[in-house]
Amino acid sequence: MEEKTIQIAGSITVDELSKALGLSVTELIGTLFKNGIVATINQRLDFETASIIIDELGLKNVRLERKNTSTRTSDFHRELSDKAVLRPPVVAVMGHVDHGKTTLLDTLLNKKTVDDEAGGITQHISAYQLNRDGRLITFLDTPGHEAFAAIRQHGAMLTDIVVIVVAADDGVKPQTIEAINFAKSANAKIIVAINKIDREGADINRTMADLSNNGLQPEEWGGDTVMVPISAKLGQNLDQLLDMILLTADIEELKADIDIPAEGLVIESHMETGKGSVVSLLVTGGELKVGEFVVAGSSYGKVRTMLDWQGKPKGKAVPSTPVTVTGFKELPNFGDRFTEVKDEKTARKMALLNAQAIANESADANVTSSDLLRMMNVADNSKTFNVIIKGDVLGSVTSVVDSLRLIDTHGEITLNIVSTGVGDINENDVYMAAGENTIIYGFNVSVPINISKMAARDNVPIRTYKIIYELLDDAKHEMENLLDAEIVEEDKGELKVLGVFRTEKTSTIAGGEVLKGDVKPNYLVRVVRNKKYLGEAEVVSVQKEKMDVKELVSGETGGLALKTEHKLDLQIGDRLQFFTRESRRRTL
Ligand code: GDP
Repeated sequence: MEEKTIQIAGSITVDELSKALGLSVTELIGTLFKNGIVATINQRLDFETASIIIDELGLKNVRLERKNTSTRTSDFHRELSDKAVLRPPVVAVMGHVDHGKTTLLDTLLNKKTVDDEAGGITQHISAYQLNRDGRLITFLDTPGHEAFAAIRQHGAMLTDIVVIVVAADDGVKPQTIEAINFAKSANAKIIVAINKIDREGADINRTMADLSNNGLQPEEWGGDTVMVPISAKLGQNLDQLLDMILLTADIEELKADIDIPAEGLVIESHMETGKGSVVSLLVTGGELKVGEFVVAGSSYGKVRTMLDWQGKPKGKAVPSTPVTVTGFKELPNFGDRFTEVKDEKTARKMALLNAQAIANESADANVTSSDLLRMMNVADNSKTFNVIIKGDVLGSVTSVVDSLRLIDTHGEITLNIVSTGVGDINENDVYMAAGENTIIYGFNVSVPINISKMAARDNVPIRTYKIIYELLDDAKHEMENLLDAEIVEEDKGELKVLGVFRTEKTSTIAGGEVLKGDVKPNYLVRVVRNKKYLGEAEVVSVQKEKMDVKELVSGETGGLALKTEHKLDLQIGDRLQFFTRESRRRTL
């Protein structure tokens, strides 16, 4: 049968779906009706409902695809004109925790001193630029680098080169592999920095072997991955690393157009007293200037001030430049794409259209899958995990939320994000959480004493973390606690009844031969006659030659006292199958 793909942008009307499927409207309405939905031709169905209906119709050749309507995730890799000019490479440093990412960036950028100079202005800037022999390299500080998946969703596709840091005394670790996978899926070039070579126990060869077992073949060994042994702490071989980055950039011929309206990505945003919204942008095309109007998602504004990553005023930002601007009327989201527009009116109009598109993605469906499940009477046993997320900056809140959404609970747990926000945990958060079984998670924020007292009084758990994956682990653990335990039964043995000595209301004494396995007190019993299940019982005691024993094994004969739920008329020839039953906590 011919494969068919139907794209759904947010939702689809009954009429559109029937046309796309080549079915009559009546047939489709009939199927909906059978599932408890009285629908009209213009009724809108959401993506999940459409999938369920297609499944119901048995249309195995039809594939549904979500079509993105919002401008938020537009493709950055636009076609370049022949006027495109070379631009600096955008580099992300990734790798396992403690392998030296922060140290590498600090040493490269002399960040510590810079932070001091700029009086904390650089605190939230998540991109830096470095000048090597007159050429610039842009480094992205991937917020919560553990949350690769979330970052990927938010357009880290603009990363040209990923430097994977691997400690030579520790080798390839889970997050190293994640970083490799991330780089590959983002189509970025990979350069490996084998770090901590100054350490005793550092083994460059073993690390290279480890890497080649994970799909990265070192150039020296005939492969195509550049690997540079470094010491981030002592600054050893860092020049060579930078040269390799520039060489890779040269080979890739990274370019951008500059005679187009400025565009790029929101990489950070937060509110600051006296300044309003402070937004970090990475320009990917065109030239952004102070005084221009910009739109990002549903937010817009006029660039009032523009600073470079070191906090110095900048009049114009060319592609691959990270800048911090003020002037956005509301906080745009981390990952939103921004574009320059000609005037305020256009900016306002576009922001409004974007806001509508974003709202439509989720809200324009008349029938949602949960309605459908309810109508279909499918037991929705899912439990709800309520959380409030607070973070120091919008980017970290988004990362936490996105990563939480990616925890697969096999559909058993619904994540309910009661609210999110930037800033310390406050009275309102506790107020919202109280009585609702809600956990407040804080990322890089603090809890004022009076708030923690209030939370303790109201039994509201507050958990604060500085490392994303620790927060995620905690949340995962909490979700696991909500899962129903798994019942595991294990077969132990079987006995053939050769004699029945006494049958009472809730007890039976019988004897027989163990055919396989063993029998012990406390085992559970399935009573089977001619392959038919008669009931369940429990072994109270086991006897051999009239003496209580701990067990009977295969080949032995003996007696059993059983406890039964109701009167069990055992007969000679019945089979008793022994088993144990255990409830086990499940993990995600
Ligand atoms: P991150 O979690 O990947 O950002 O790792 P950090 O940069 O915080 O480094 C973790 C620890 O390793 C710190 O104690 C660093 O001082 C240390 N470290 C990082 N690079 C080197 C290095 O090249 N040599 C040595 N000896 N220690 C290093």
